Amino acid sequence: MPRDPEKLRAKQARSRARRREKISAYNHAHYLSHIEEIRLANRERYLANQDDRLDRAAAYRATHPEEIRISKATHRLANLDEYRAKAKAKWAADPVKSKTLNAARYQRNRPAILLMAAIKRASQPAKVRARQQRYRANHPERNAYDHELRKARKNGATIIDFCPAQWEEMLLACHGQCVYCGRDDLPLTKDHLTPYARGGNHTLWNILPACVSCNCKKKDGPPLCPVQPLLLTIANPRRPRKKRVA
Ligand SMILES: [Zn+2]
Repeated sequence: MPRDPEKLRAKQARSRARRREKISAYNHAHYLSHIEEIRLANRERYLANQDDRLDRAAAYRATHPEEIRISKATHRLANLDEYRAKAKAKWAADPVKSKTLNAARYQRNRPAILLMAAIKRASQPAKVRARQQRYRANHPERNAYDHELRKARKNGATIIDFCPAQWEEMLLACHGQCVYCGRDDLPLTKDHLTPYARGGNHTLWNILPACVSCNCKKKDGPPLCPVQPLLLTIANPRRPRKKRVA
């Protein structure tokens, strides 16, 4: 009996599809009726091959560091909130350990971190300026300190390392009294034993607490009476911070 080959092929295809459906339905029914056994068997196989699987994973990680890095970073970006919450919880659980780890990480990546910070600063100059202004407004003592350093630089001092902590100690050591007249009811100023005009420096051994009156009287002249620098302080001198280049 002559047959149309096209029709024949279509019929065969339909038949194959029906068979596949039947098999898959049978498999599914079998799966459902033996689900516990199958799960148990799968679990056993999983456990039996665990070492193998871990070895393979470790080998992959060792040979594909770049892929792992990208995959981790992608996952992190996609789940940023979750990562942050986790980090916060970890930090709260052991702040001391977290601080130590953070400090170590900072030391390891310092150049990169500083570079990132500089890039960020450069990209938002208005924000940086506003923050600086806020800081200035809240720290008048810092303004006074900076002013002192500027004055010392302007006057050609070569050593500029006198710091607020040293001044505090000096005031304690002289009981808040002027080294020349002994008065303690006037605000004390930093008198430069050798004035800037004669090449004096802004450093511990050239500074004494003198009242405004005595400091005005002395001006650029010699000390009003023989005095010795108060070398009693233990605070470390501090180098003025270099101006940041934005
Ligand atoms: Zn005085």
